[in-house]
Amino acid sequence: MTAPTFSVVIPAFNEEEVIAETYARLTAVMKKMGEPYELVFVNDGSRDKTAEILMSFCMEDTAVRLVDFSRNFGHMPAISAGMEYARGDAIFIIDADLQDPPELFPQMAEKWREGFFVVYGQREKRKGESLFKKVSAKIFYRFIRRMTSVDMPLDTGEFRLIDRAVCDAVNKLPEKSRYIRGLVSWVGFRQTAVLYVRQERFAGKTKYPLRKMVAFAMDAVMSFSYKPLKLATTLGFLISLTGFIYLAIILYQALFTDTTVAGWASTTGIVVFTQGIVLMILGIMGEYIGRIYDEIKNRPAYIVRAVIDKKSLGNR
Ligand code: UDP
Ligand code: MG
Repeated sequence: MTAPTFSVVIPAFNEEEVIAETYARLTAVMKKMGEPYELVFVNDGSRDKTAEILMSFCMEDTAVRLVDFSRNFGHMPAISAGMEYARGDAIFIIDADLQDPPELFPQMAEKWREGFFVVYGQREKRKGESLFKKVSAKIFYRFIRRMTSVDMPLDTGEFRLIDRAVCDAVNKLPEKSRYIRGLVSWVGFRQTAVLYVRQERFAGKTKYPLRKMVAFAMDAVMSFSYKPLKLATTLGFLISLTGFIYLAIILYQALFTDTTVAGWASTTGIVVFTQGIVLMILGIMGEYIGRIYDEIKNRPAYIVRAVIDKKSLGNR
């Protein structure tokens, strides 16, 4: 089979409420673009009807492929798998919940034809998300940018078009902790932005509760920066400096004034404070060591149970 011009990678976890609408909107846009295309849905161990619905699309439509995970591995592994199985010359990555408009694809493709290798969607605005999500996202993108030496665009998620060359380059990176937007920035190539307004979820709930958001942010920082480790050096230096100055003051008071050097309270306070800092730094080191451990075990980032399309169903 000849490779399609366009692939669309769609990670889906418990998206039974939107997935049919997503399929319809994607199909309409892709048909309009008038080039051979494929839709690569990755079912990330959904516990609802997502897989069944996707299967029914596979039965009717040769353009659809389903990469079915053995369990829930997460958003980033799902996209990695989609990129691995995509065959197109250009690959679109888009969430299943229609927060990012597929109608932007033609505009992205145009930029691609102009010679850009990565065309990412940059959020001008977010609609229908909680104030907390908006603020935390703003902080997150700015924080990440400060923490890493890779030039990562602000307010940009996974919604983008990447050229085959970029897809291959990212696929070749052996690391298991996959912060995709970071990796795509890291590989370089000519990149540009398309501005858009992020919509409300079409239906269903976010699959990123606070706990996952924090874990995601930690992964992003830890896999692209060792600045947190430098914190140890800086804090250590500052604390010793403070201690030194304080010691000088105490000595001065003891030798040249009548002030009694009193108080176990201040001593205890300082001990607790410094112990806290030491533990925090140990924790940061632990986070890195844990990640080294994960990488060294060399387990795959995901396990595919089956890849299904109309042809494979026909052969049964
Ligand atoms: N997703 C996934 N696996 C997960 C969590 C999320 O494949 O473990 C998918 C989800 O189906 C959606 C995309 O990743 O297509 C983004 O998730 P979501 O919309 O819940 O995140 P938010 O937009 O709220 O940050
Ligand atoms: Mg979403």
